[in-house]
Amino acid sequence: MSRLEIRRSLFDSSRISIIAIGRRRRPKHYSYQGLHVGALTKICPFCPGHEYMTPPATLVLTSSLEYLVEGEGERVRDWLVRIFPNKYPALLLNTEGSRGTISLYGYHEVIVESPIHSEEVYLENPKYMYYVFLALRRRIKEILGDDRIENVVVIKNRGPRAGASIVHPHLQLFANTFTPPVILSELQGFKNFKEKHGICPLCYMVNRIDEPRLVLESKHFIVYTRYAPKQAYELLIVPRKHSPCITNASDDELFDLAQVLSKVLRALLRLLGGVDYNYWIHCAPKNSEMEYHWHIEVQPVVETWGGYEKSSGVHIVTVSPEESAVELRNILKSL
Ligand SMILES: [Zn+2]
Ligand SMILES: [Zn+2]
Ligand SMILES: [Zn+2]
Repeated sequence: MSRLEIRRSLFDSSRISIIAIGRRRRPKHYSYQGLHVGALTKICPFCPGHEYMTPPATLVLTSSLEYLVEGEGERVRDWLVRIFPNKYPALLLNTEGSRGTISLYGYHEVIVESPIHSEEVYLENPKYMYYVFLALRRRIKEILGDDRIENVVVIKNRGPRAGASIVHPHLQLFANTFTPPVILSELQGFKNFKEKHGICPLCYMVNRIDEPRLVLESKHFIVYTRYAPKQAYELLIVPRKHSPCITNASDDELFDLAQVLSKVLRALLRLLGGVDYNYWIHCAPKNSEMEYHWHIEVQPVVETWGGYEKSSGVHIVTVSPEESAVELRNILKSL
């Protein structure tokens, strides 16, 4: 079992650290590179038939679109999406560990996105991503039903440079008793913008026509390159409907989102030659009175951050957001 401790900086409240000693022992033989070797793919713990290599699922979406929960010693075989606790958690459900306002209590779960082992093949079939969003919407609602949980972040690591240790398409969910610093900072930004301009900043963006950073428009979503990116080609996916969390999205919106997200990821992979990337879903804290508009941020790993970026939060990028939008729009025409 890993040893965990959570800390907040005494002078920089935007800095929270989980010290996770045992996580260093995460299985290296599942390494991303290793799984490119044909024979080793047999040991992928997320592939169908290997369900016993992972803990029992807290939620399974079956091929007949039923939602099930696995008991100990029980595994569902005909699944489309499996969600289960991370074997090497950074947050714990049975913990007393806390420091002031922050606690290690929380959910750290893995979402296996499809039975398909290859991310590229998975992205060619957006209906699988739609199933992921259906399962996620349900699981996030369940977790937010826990009185102690305040905020849920869902993240994607694809590739070793983006922090992935397993190649099979999967997401991770982190549910905390506190709202992470980045979201707190966004809440303050939404408040400031609304006070100054009388409108939510993302609603303002959605209503702007002729935006040079526009990459893609769909029935329910708009994709832009970020105005002030941390990585070149960084994207923002914004729902047209003002809402604090993805849990309020309709089936129709989630279906549309799956088409949009898989398309922009394929565009990044094509344009940047199999680039590693992260993306994440940002939702407001539960029961927040503050203005918020949920969104997805996509960050390809293009630039290596040096001391200046790490020390200051100021990021140097080598392609302008307007230029990267042109390149992405052109690539999207050929997809
Ligand atoms: Zn696999
Ligand atoms: Zn809005
Ligand atoms: Zn955000």
